[in-house]
Amino acid sequence: MGEFSRSIASLTAEMLACNTLEKAQAYLQSLNEPISLHSYIAGSFKAWDAGSTSSVDSFEPKTGRLIAKIPNTSEADVELAIHHAKLAFPTWSKTPRSHRSDCLRRIANLIQENRELLAVWESIDQGKTLERAQVEVDRAVSNFSYFSTYILHEQTPARMIDATSTSASVLTYEHRSPAGVFALISPWNMPLYLLTWKIAPCLAFGCTAVAKPSEITSITAFLLTAIIHESEILPPGVLNLVLGDGPTTGAALVASPNIAGVSFTGGTATGIALRKATAHQIGKHLSLELGGKNPLLLFSDALVPTPDHPAPLPHFAALAAAAAFTNQGEICLCTSRVYVQEASYPAFLATFAAHVRATYAPGTTPAMGALASRAHYDKVRGYLALAEREGATFEVGGVPPEEPEGGGYWVGPVVLTGVRGGSAVLREEIFGPVVVVVPFGSEEEGVRLANGSGYGLAAVVVTRDGGRMRRVGEAMEAGVVWVNGWLQRELVLQGGWVGV
Ligand code: NDP
Repeated sequence: MGEFSRSIASLTAEMLACNTLEKAQAYLQSLNEPISLHSYIAGSFKAWDAGSTSSVDSFEPKTGRLIAKIPNTSEADVELAIHHAKLAFPTWSKTPRSHRSDCLRRIANLIQENRELLAVWESIDQGKTLERAQVEVDRAVSNFSYFSTYILHEQTPARMIDATSTSASVLTYEHRSPAGVFALISPWNMPLYLLTWKIAPCLAFGCTAVAKPSEITSITAFLLTAIIHESEILPPGVLNLVLGDGPTTGAALVASPNIAGVSFTGGTATGIALRKATAHQIGKHLSLELGGKNPLLLFSDALVPTPDHPAPLPHFAALAAAAAFTNQGEICLCTSRVYVQEASYPAFLATFAAHVRATYAPGTTPAMGALASRAHYDKVRGYLALAEREGATFEVGGVPPEEPEGGGYWVGPVVLTGVRGGSAVLREEIFGPVVVVVPFGSEEEGVRLANGSGYGLAAVVVTRDGGRMRRVGEAMEAGVVWVNGWLQRELVLQGGWVGV
């Protein structure tokens, strides 16, 4: 086992003992200062000194209090982490798949064993409810267990080239080999779940990793490395963690010529910056999962009761609400524009608004916690103030106060109508509990409105007409299309058409 300084060891032990919200809150209350999180390089946590290292403050969204300090890992230390990941690569990439599979399965088990405490810290750090955090920890378990078996059964395409008068037939096949060290950069909305969705396939396929979570939500990434460190499952250098902000730590990681590829999930503007920053490094792999302004298109045919579907209106109103407000709307795949066919518009809006009011009061349901940061609160509030200035109707909710009440970043659900066509509220990603409802007439108009944003991440089509499912589903300019459902996901799906 690598060096594990006593103070860091006791910090992680204390945090890992907090398996209820009450225990974690009591622990935080008992401290005289915020928790210091640490980067993890070559099998050791790296101690740092707040006097000499620049750092980032991390606040608890539900209360607004300072709970943690994160070092801005320097370019030199980022390069050190990459260096050790590179040293670990030749051996790890040649480690038999069966062994890598076993390592991933054991990590899945460890996350499962630590489910409650990881969910507790995720809820405290990100603002989400404990119930939502538990769902995401379960998905983190699935990330490791899925790829632990996937690599054992991976297939590769093979094709024949016909014989010609001058040559025999030729068998061609695709061979994939581990590329090297990957930079894994994740956002703040589903911290553990999204980071493990990068770590698991990276390690499964024989690459080594330098991971950087968002500076706003680094706690569960730190705890995950502590749990893996204690288990001694991975050789030093295979998984490294560098904490810090995007411009300092993230940018240094992406720019390094020793990084073979970058797997990034985050905002579109950052994605563009990453593409520019790596444009000259032609061999560098770049995977970008960016923002969304996702439509839900509801056709009147779906609301006709049938013997096996006697109450479609409340059912689909609940579906649209879940798609809009799960995790406070802080999921890239959340619906933020609901288009409803004119004949059903009044009935749908009334049922939808009543359901949202009854179900999504902040803090009272599994779906709604506090927004992740003060900066994000201000951003969401800015869009709502704009909607008000532009004369939109708040069917549910309103503009939150400039200074968050009680210090926490709470914003209740907002349903808007009467938003003007070109408004930024309808065009730009708000990434909060805000949804705009708009009527449409013909199928063609609905498709045009749904496709009328610069994004193309996901869409939902609600119809019970089989022909329309395919016709409209395939006309959606989106990477993933759900029909009569939302958020079901096959982990290796790169985009496609999901019918339920
Ligand atoms: P950001 O783009 O601001 O940040 C994402 C990550 O990139 C963070 O770790 C951030 O670090 C880091 N980063 C920022 N600047 C740089 C840089 N110059 N070089 C390298 N890394 C950098 O996104 P948010 O964290 O605000 O997350 C919200 C966004 O993520 C939304 O747009 C959402 O739609 C999108 N998202 C997309 C998903 C998808 O699968 N398509 C899923 C989930 C979210 P730091 O925060 O420390 O500055």
